Amino acid sequence: AKLGGRSRFAFFEPHMHKSLTERMVLEEELAAAAGNNQLHLHYQPKFDGQKKLRGAEALLRWHHPTLGSVSPEIFIPVAEDSGIIEELGRWVLWEAVGQCKSWQRMGMLPEGFRLAVNVSPEQFRGEFFTDELQTILLSHDLDPKYLIIEITESSLLEDFQDARSKIQIMKGWGIKVSIDDFGTGYSSLAYLNELDVDELKIDRSFIRSIESNEDSRTIVDALLSLAKHLNIQTVAEGVETQGQWEYLTNTPCALFQGYFLGKPAPAERWFIPGEDVALN
Ligand code: C2E
Ligand code: CA
Ligand code: CA
Ligand code: CA
Repeated sequence: AKLGGRSRFAFFEPHMHKSLTERMVLEEELAAAAGNNQLHLHYQPKFDGQKKLRGAEALLRWHHPTLGSVSPEIFIPVAEDSGIIEELGRWVLWEAVGQCKSWQRMGMLPEGFRLAVNVSPEQFRGEFFTDELQTILLSHDLDPKYLIIEITESSLLEDFQDARSKIQIMKGWGIKVSIDDFGTGYSSLAYLNELDVDELKIDRSFIRSIESNEDSRTIVDALLSLAKHLNIQTVAEGVETQGQWEYLTNTPCALFQGYFLGKPAPAERWFIPGEDVALN
């Protein structure tokens, strides 16, 4: 692995083969990261078709003093494989809920705003996941109506009934539930009938080629129409160009996220006094 450089991905490129020692170093360092103040959250805005702010997604960042910034695409899988993810996920929830509470206290949240938090399958499957979530909400005194939990289809695979009952519990409190990276998982569409999910996020891989590839447009249109008929809200992720934006705002897609609209940024850079959220 190459050290140094200013790129976030300087040390461990996602495509690099990671040796066992590299993995062990990462694991060890990651286990200590929260206690060493190396973790923080960035927030990426979610907009509607009128570019009104509707929410944000919390995205974990890890800055290590010598490794530099390590991409979540590298360290999240390491955390998942090593069991660190539960603790990491708890930290994320605690931090995100706390941040949302201070935004709310400062009167900064527009009507209907929800903060999205990513939850790994391993974390979601944990026996005490909903209990811990409840404790965190109570500790910060945050109304659950400000939260949306993003899970992936793989969270539904191992124990569908357990997933279903956890979703019901969260929904009972007023939390919304989103299926992330929709269209890329292994599960069948049948679960959509049996789960009370509120939102589908159309994976970036479909959005990326929407202008150049007719098949991508066909898939996106089909997913959007499916969601519409099931009465589930849709989010297009990874909107990067004017062309993608124009195409998507002429579909039933409700919400949009991507560099074209706003990049992930630290909380303190998020709301500029007297202005709306910073659009790039
Ligand atoms: P994700 O949940 O699908 O998050 C979207 C990713 O796409 C983020 O990458 C975001 O920065 C990036 N993105 C947003 N808009 C654009 C765009 O227009 N173009 C491009 N090329 N990328 C865009 P990030 O932050 O590197 O996170 C990668 C993945 O790591 C996330 O994918 C998620 O699966 C995972 N992750 C990040 N934070 C957390 C966390 O707190 N908990 C868990 N369990 N997973 C997380
Ligand atoms: Ca996500
Ligand atoms: Ca996603
Ligand atoms: Ca993704």
